Amino acid sequence: MVITLSAGSTLLASSDAMAAFDRAASRWEELIANNTNIVIQADFGALSGGILATSYPTQVATTYSELRTLLISSSAGEPDSALFNALPESRPDFALPPGFTASNYMNATKANLKALGAANLDQLYGPWDGSITFGTGYSYSYLANGVEPGKYDFESIVFHEIGHTLGFMSAVDKIVGRSSGSVDPTLFDLFRFPSTGIPDTLSEFGTSSRSLKPTDSTYWSDGASSYALSSGISYQASHWASSAIGIMDPTVSQGVKELYLTTADRSAFSSMGWDLSGGEVHHAPEPATLFMLPLGASLFLAARRVRQKRSRAA
Ligand SMILES: [Zn+2]
Repeated sequence: MVITLSAGSTLLASSDAMAAFDRAASRWEELIANNTNIVIQADFGALSGGILATSYPTQVATTYSELRTLLISSSAGEPDSALFNALPESRPDFALPPGFTASNYMNATKANLKALGAANLDQLYGPWDGSITFGTGYSYSYLANGVEPGKYDFESIVFHEIGHTLGFMSAVDKIVGRSSGSVDPTLFDLFRFPSTGIPDTLSEFGTSSRSLKPTDSTYWSDGASSYALSSGISYQASHWASSAIGIMDPTVSQGVKELYLTTADRSAFSSMGWDLSGGEVHHAPEPATLFMLPLGASLFLAARRVRQKRSRAA
C-alpha cells in the first residue's frame, strides 16, 4: 500500500507534524501488502471539546452481492477465503432499533474497495480516500521515539485515524442520536454480532443475525475469535470497546505511543480484505487519561453515493 498525504496549510507549516504523519503512514504501508494507492487529506482544525481528531473516510455504496463477490474474488487462495465463502448469497439479517430499516445498500470505504480490487474508484469518486482533522488546542508530542509526558502522541493519532479510512467504521454511528431512518450497513458491520448470538463456527458466522442496535452489547466475530465493540452510546461504535483490545479503541492516553496492531486489529482489517504482512503483535497498554477519538458526526450525513471533503477549515 502507498499512502499519499495531501496536507492543508497548517499541517504543512509544521515539519514535525508532517514527519510524524509520514512515519504513521509508513507504518501502515509496512503492515499492508495490498497493491493499493490511497490519498488522504489532513489538516489541523477546531474541534469540540475532548475530541483530538476526526476522520471522514470517503464511502461508497455498493450492494451486498457486489461486496460478497469482491471479498471472495480478492481472497482466492488466501487464508480468508473460507471466511468470505461462508457469507450467504443473500444478505444476512441486521437487527435494528425500532424506527430504523436497512437499505438495500452496503457501505464500504473507498480505500477498502480498492483493496478488494474494485476498479475506477478515483475516476468515479474523485481522488480522495479520506480526510482527517486534528484538533487544535492540544499539546502533541511529535517525537519518533518516546512521547513527551503530558502530551498526546501525534503519530499514534494519525495511525488510528488512517485505520478508519481503511474501513473500520460502523453504521451504528448513523443511528445513535436519531429516532428513525434508513441505514446502509457497512462491510465492517458484517462482523458485528450481539453478545447473545456470537457465532462459534464459520457456518454460524454466515447465518447469524448481525446487530446494529446501540443498546445491544456487541462483539466483532469471524466465527473463530470475538472482541467487544463500543456500543456507540458512550463512545462511537466504530471502535473496539477498550484500549486493551486494540489500536482502534475510542480513546488515546497522554504519553502513550500506539503504533502496532494487536491480534484483534489484525483480524478486523484482515476480515475486510486487507492483507496483513509482517508486524509483530503487541498488547495495548492500559489507558490513563481518556479522550474520545470519534469519527466526525457529519460523516454519516453524507449523500449515499460518496463521502468527500475537498477542504477542511483550518
Ligand atoms: Zn477512531
